[in-house]
Amino acid sequence: MRDAGAPVRGQARAADRAADAPAAVDAPAAAAALLAWYGRHARALPWRVGPAARQAGVAPDPYRVWLSEVMLQQTTVAAAEGHFRRFAGRWPDVRALAAAPEAEVMAAWAGLGYYARARNLIACARQVAAAHGGCFPAEEAALGALPGIGPYTAAAVAAIAFDRPAVVVDGNVERVVARLFCVATPLPAAKPRLRALAATLTPAVRPGDHAQAMMDLGATVCTPRRPDCGACPLAPYCAARAAGRAAELPARAPRRAAPLRRGLAYVARRADGAVLLERRPARGLLGGMAGWPGSVWAEGTPPAHAPPVAADWRPAGEVDHVFTHFRLRLEVLAAEVGAQAAPARGAFVSAADFAPSSLPTLMRKVWDRARPALDGGA
Ligand code: SF4
Repeated sequence: MRDAGAPVRGQARAADRAADAPAAVDAPAAAAALLAWYGRHARALPWRVGPAARQAGVAPDPYRVWLSEVMLQQTTVAAAEGHFRRFAGRWPDVRALAAAPEAEVMAAWAGLGYYARARNLIACARQVAAAHGGCFPAEEAALGALPGIGPYTAAAVAAIAFDRPAVVVDGNVERVVARLFCVATPLPAAKPRLRALAATLTPAVRPGDHAQAMMDLGATVCTPRRPDCGACPLAPYCAARAAGRAAELPARAPRRAAPLRRGLAYVARRADGAVLLERRPARGLLGGMAGWPGSVWAEGTPPAHAPPVAADWRPAGEVDHVFTHFRLRLEVLAAEVGAQAAPARGAFVSAADFAPSSLPTLMRKVWDRARPALDGGA
């Protein structure tokens, strides 16, 4: 057992440990150093109550905390900030969001990707409004029972909005913990251990600030490739730093290459500028979003598919896009069609109502690819 307050030091000690045994770290002292650092270096974020205001008694708005956490799943802070401001300005509380038409919320979500999150966002807002009187529950378990709130988001909202000592572990936190305790076991196998170690760091006092401090440290100091150990409040306690292994952790098991799926996308435009769009099925990728008619997406050669409208279809190039579990390559076909064209799928949207910025990123890429072919052939 280490003496309280004695940080881990020395390469030899780290090297002597069994490869997968975490180093002994004075977790309470490390957590205290982290909180002190957060008091000086917390990022100013539009959904955040900073440490000074928090300690002065300002309570975070659970709606804003929840909204930001849902947006930040798979999205960077920089990408989420603008969307957050627009959402919070247009729908300032959960009841307003619950009452919003689904199509408007989906359009406002465009650009953030992972559209199942937007559908769950609406479902969650409606459930909180209907079943919880417009107030988010404070307990992790009750939060986790709401649509779209997984274990991570439940813990983050419980900690940040309600100051519950929930253990909040995302990729940033995993990295910091893997380095602090010099855990050599590769991810994802190391996840349970990293979570248990993160729990030893979580303080009973100011757990919400602790969770945000861990996030900030991972995002700004203990970064994936070049950890800035010289600026890190955990440096005196950090076993990976002591062992000279900071940049190589966390280790990762080799990834299987994501499979490639292919498909076709048809962009039809009339002389008056109207374009042929359809709403995608509610379930599945980009569910409920507007998109170009096209084929199913499948591995192998692009599937044979009937165009949505009779026209002189011309190849306009290809578009590549990466989803979580596969890569997609869409062959884009473009055509100018007559005023009387009768589509078998979708409907023409007038030039005045067509806003490429409200399309999901993939569909915007398709439009960008088709447009030169349409303009050149006009
Ligand atoms: Fe990360 Fe370096 Fe800080 Fe350790 S000392 S937590 S490796 S930044």
